[in-house]
Amino acid sequence: MPTIASVLPEEADAMLRRALEAHGQRFTEQRAAVYRVLRGTCEHPTADEVFTAVRGEIADISLATVYKALETLVSCSLAVKLTYGDDSARYDARTDDHYHSRCLACGVVRDVAAEATEVPHFEVGGGFRVEGYRVEVVGYCPACAGA
Ligand SMILES: [Zn+2]
Ligand SMILES: [Zn+2]
Repeated sequence: MPTIASVLPEEADAMLRRALEAHGQRFTEQRAAVYRVLRGTCEHPTADEVFTAVRGEIADISLATVYKALETLVSCSLAVKLTYGDDSARYDARTDDHYHSRCLACGVVRDVAAEATEVPHFEVGGGFRVEGYRVEVVGYCPACAGA
């Protein structure tokens, strides 16, 4: 089955509608526009950045509506929310397991090319059973590193 992020826009709308309705949520033009922005970028935007992009399509949409639409997409497993212990939550339409790199200077988040398939076998102690892990690679993006 193709992932929703890899299909044509018209199919994506139909898949979005089905996914929303399966979770008891309505398909709305605002939600569709927010989702289009999200699946059309690999920049892992913040709610503010999505808001700025969606306003090009729906001029009178509010930040609150964008925020709620993003949370709805997350609750329907159509997006992942990435949080960093501050207010800069970012959203990702790619919901398969993958790793991120984050720039310590500008905060840009990118997907890491490496496959996230192997679960390492290590003991974390305390009787904790390891089922998976999340890796965040931190450093400096080319622009910030001056490369
Ligand atoms: Zn940077
Ligand atoms: Zn990602």
